[in-house]
This record gives sequence, structure tokens and C-alpha cells, in this order.
Amino acid sequence: MSDIIQLLPDHVANQIAAGEVVQRPASVVKELMENAIDANATTIKLIIKDAGKTLVQVIDNGSGMSVTDARLSFERHATSKIRSAEDLFQLHTKGFRGEALASIAAIAHVELKTKQEQDEVGTQIVIEGSEVVSQDVIVTPKGTSIAVKNLFFNIPARRNFLKSNQVETRHIIDEFHRVALAHPNIQFLMYHNGSEVFNLPESNYRQRIVNIFGAKTNEKLVPVNEETEVVKISGFVGKPEYAKKTRGEQYFFVNDRFIKSAYLNHAITSAFDGLLKDSTHASYFLNLKVNPKTIDINIHPTKTEIKFDDEHTLYAILRASVKHSLGQFNIAPVLDFERDSNLDTPYSYKDVNNPNTPKIEVDRSFNPFQEKQFAGKQTTAFKRQTPANWDSLYVGLESKSTQEQQDFSSIQFESEDQTASIFKDDSQVETKQTTFQLQNKYVISTIKSGILVIDQHRAHQRVLYEDFLQHITVKESMSQQLLFPVQLHFSTQEIEIIRQVKQDLEHTGFQFSNISKDNIEISGVPISVPESEVSVILEQLINDIQNEVPDSNFSSTDLLAKSMAKSLAVKTGQSLTVMEQEHLVNSLFGCKEPNMSPTNKTTFITLSVDELEKKFI
Ligand code: ADP
Ligand code: MG
Repeated sequence: MSDIIQLLPDHVANQIAAGEVVQRPASVVKELMENAIDANATTIKLIIKDAGKTLVQVIDNGSGMSVTDARLSFERHATSKIRSAEDLFQLHTKGFRGEALASIAAIAHVELKTKQEQDEVGTQIVIEGSEVVSQDVIVTPKGTSIAVKNLFFNIPARRNFLKSNQVETRHIIDEFHRVALAHPNIQFLMYHNGSEVFNLPESNYRQRIVNIFGAKTNEKLVPVNEETEVVKISGFVGKPEYAKKTRGEQYFFVNDRFIKSAYLNHAITSAFDGLLKDSTHASYFLNLKVNPKTIDINIHPTKTEIKFDDEHTLYAILRASVKHSLGQFNIAPVLDFERDSNLDTPYSYKDVNNPNTPKIEVDRSFNPFQEKQFAGKQTTAFKRQTPANWDSLYVGLESKSTQEQQDFSSIQFESEDQTASIFKDDSQVETKQTTFQLQNKYVISTIKSGILVIDQHRAHQRVLYEDFLQHITVKESMSQQLLFPVQLHFSTQEIEIIRQVKQDLEHTGFQFSNISKDNIEISGVPISVPESEVSVILEQLINDIQNEVPDSNFSSTDLLAKSMAKSLAVKTGQSLTVMEQEHLVNSLFGCKEPNMSPTNKTTFITLSVDELEKKFI
């Protein structure tokens, strides 16, 4: 039999490689911007048309390329950044694979213009699907401009796979943020369809964050600085009280490279333990500098993953540093339980290498309804109320004081009467009450055939959802005028999302008096919405829209109604008056689909007398 193995032609190999490097316009943005940084540019301009589908162009004032280099840069494995495999362990640049330009040129129309400082004239090269169409001598300023047009023109399947302009733009802005945050000393500009989206002057790190996320961000930042032999950490974490429902603003850079690491993310979030409200996420902007020899960034083609030699130590240091900052900047008092300042222990932070904190034993599985439930020993029940990991406030305390803290915690919570309603209401059950609440989670009522158990959070979501849906579709609703308009601050991207659903929001009763680049002014809110909840609702909404895959039957109306219902519904753990309980039961059964929550979860179950009787056999 004859030989059957063939070498793939270069352009085919490049197209295949492109699949790894270029998933979407945002990947091109990342590669081109990183190249500009590696070329020591001090100003980098990003120009986008139609979410990058028509054009992604990056113009820099960096080193530029010689004629030969300009031509070579499009060859696969052509890189000026490493000479041998050894160099991989000494990386100080972003690029090293020499794949990006070759890949991009294989799947787009590319126009390169470049000139080095010392040269009189520059070079222009046009490449389409790996074919050099033209090469000319041109007059052009020092630096490089690469325009990538009609991405995936020769791979229709990939082009069709691209998401809506809105989604692709979001990816691009994400990528732009990451690069811009990692390099505050470089000026970045971004234009989309002819209008300026960002103009970030050269600045310090704090200013860069503020320039991207808006002036209000400034007061939210707590500096983190730590230097050890293993790592140098600098940057900021967001104060816990500003934590958002979205995971959005979490940035982690290792040697100026944006990195995703669930493990290190965990280190940071665990430093916040006990300080955050439920289901909110702290924001952070942290830079780690480590010896390049101790990391391996070579494991992923798009280079956002990383392997550290000693992850555990890094974890411990990171966690301790963040805790330290939160402690130092007096973040602790924002906790919403009262603290007796006489009992405060002076904060001490001693040993970075041993960030283990004293542990308090808390029986989290304690269930007041088990065994001892009516023994009248309420103190035990209150143990459950101890906020998880609240010991995190006292980093580095000697274990001697653990006892002190424990005493303190029981003093605190013994006097707190939160779960008492379960017991108190017992007396009322005997009178006329038809409903009662179980563990501040279920509303129990009797029906003819037996018992009804309603999940309060889900049931209320259903009620609110149908309510909002009706208001939005009927387009008439009651609005409550605010005496003083509420000012809310969002990022450019978030404002864009609000704009998209503005009309629907207005139909629910919201009134916007002004929407600017990073600020929203609200002059009216739906009757059912307390003023204090406005920002939470909008944040949740933005988050939900961001997480929605817009091309799968995207209905903004439905999403809006669901999202608002989720934000406003009574939460698990919230105690309800008898009237509220009854109102909830009645409204639920006034719904079109009372059985399911808007996210298709069971809202209630029934337990018939028959079933009960079986249990007593
Ligand atoms: P890598 O960045 O991994 O080296 P690329 O394909 O991204 O590979 O780029 C290939 C080479 O082209 C780079 O090593 C660099 O020498 C040159 N190059 C690319 N972009 C620029 C730029 N904006 N300015 C100067 N040189 C550049
Ligand atoms: Mg590169």
C-alpha cells in the first residue's frame, strides 16, 4: 500500500491553529493589544466596528518592525520573544508562541502598517486568508497599526457562531479592561463605530480603576500591599458593603497578565468570610508579582490559566494580606450586628507565613426542631445565628482569646430574639391563626384535605413575577415619585444594558430623569419597590442579562420580570407577620400558575390527612 500521511499545507495548519487562538473578535483584541504592549508602546488605540465583526484595529506607538520582521511576523512560530525553550521560564513578555498573527491572518483580511523610529519610511503588508496580497513602502508614523477586517470570512461556520453585537462588544470591553488594568502606565483609547468609549490617560493604579469604573469607585477601594520572598501583592479590594450580586469586577493579574484561578479567587473570598451579605461578591483588583521561574503560563493557548510552583503558600499569603487590609481599614464595623467596642481586641497581624486563624466551633447543622426543640432552652437555638466564620475579623489572634470570643458571641446572640417568633406564635396558633411560619422559610397552612407547605421565597417570586409581567405588557403601572432622585453609578457597559431594557423598566413604574455615561438618575420607582432596593434590583437585573444567552429565546420582558421578582421576593430567613403570611397564601393561589416559581421550582407541597395517617400506623 502506498504512503498515506501528508503534511498539511501551511494555510490549513494556520486555520486550525486559529481555532485555538481566535474564538471571537475579543481574542483578536487581546492578541493585538498584548503585542503592542510587548513593543513598549505608551499609547494604544483600539478601534472597533460592528462589535469587531467588521473591524478590529490596534494602533500603537511602540517599536515598530523592520521590513523583514513585518513579513516574518505572519509566519507561524515566528516570534521575537523567545529563542529557546529555556526562555519560557524567564518570560517577561505577553507573547511567546508566535502564533497570533499567523492565526489571525489565516482567517481574516489583515492590513499591517509599521515603522521603526530610525527608518525614514515604513512597510505596509496586506494579507487575506494567509495569502500576501501586497507589500508596499509607505509613509506612516513610528509604531504599528494592524487592522483585522471581516473576521472568519473564509470559515462561515465560525462566523455564524458569533453572538449578537451586544455580546461580542461586551467580550471586547472585558478584554480591554483587563489589558488596561494591568498597565496603568500606558494610555489606552477605545472607539466603537466612530465614537469614543474609553480614554484612559496614563495614571496610577487607583486612578486607572476609577477611570474605567467611574468616580464613585474611589471610595470603595481598600488598598492591599504585601511583600514577601515569594510574592509581592499590590492592588485593591472593594469594601464589603459595596459588594455586588455580580461577579463582574474581579481582576487578578500575575506579572501583569490577567489570570483566572478559582483557587486564588477562593483565597480572596475566604478573606471576606462573614463580611459579605448573602450571595454578593467582593470586587478585587490585585496584582501579584512572582519570579517568572516559579510559574508556568504555557498550559493554555489563550494564556489565562497559570500553574504556580507553590500554590498553597500563595493562597495563604493572599488570604492573610486581604484580611489584613480589611482589618486595618476598619472594615469590620460595617457588619450589621452590633458590637460592643469594649470587647474589641486590638487588631494584630504578625505572621504572614502562618495565617491560620483560631477556629470557633459552631454547630451549623443545629436544628432547633430536633429533639430538644420544646425544651425551652433557647440559648442553644441562638448558636445557629452566629455568623459563619466571623472569626475572620481577628486575624492572627492568639488562641487564648478564642474563649473570649466565644463568650462574646454567646452574649451577643443570647439577647437577640430572632428565632423567637417560632415559639412566640405557638400561643396564637391556638386562637384564630390559620397560617404559621416554619424556620422563617415555609408558610404552613391547613387545607381541607390536609396541610399546605409553601416555600415563601419561591411563592412570592411567582406572585411578583406575574404582577410585573402584567404591568410590562399592559404598559401601565403606578409610579411613586421620589422626593430626591436616586443617583446610581454604573460602568459604561452596565449603563448600556440598562438602556436596552429602559422601556420595559419604565412600564413597571421606573422613571429615569437622566442616563449619562456612568450615572443613572431615577426619579420614580414602581409602587412595590422600596427606594432602598433600587440599586440591588438594577444590579441583579444587569447580572441576569449578562448571564443570559441572548439568542436562546431572549425575552427581555420575561427576564426583567423574573429578575425583579427575584430581587424583591421575601427571602428565606425573613420572618413574616400572620397577615403577611395569609396575604402570601392568597396571592399565590390567585396566580395563573401557582405551582411553579418563575424559574420552574416547586412553590408548595401538600400533605394529605391520608398520608399523615399512614405515618401514624
Ligand atoms: P508572539 O507575540 O507570540 O511573539 P505574534 O504572532 O503575536 O507572536 O507576533 C509575532 C511577532 O511580531 C512578535 O514576536 C513581534 O516581534 C512582532 N510584532 C507583532 N505585533 C507587533 C507590534 N504591535 N509592534 C512590534 N512588533 C510586533
Ligand atoms: Mg503576540
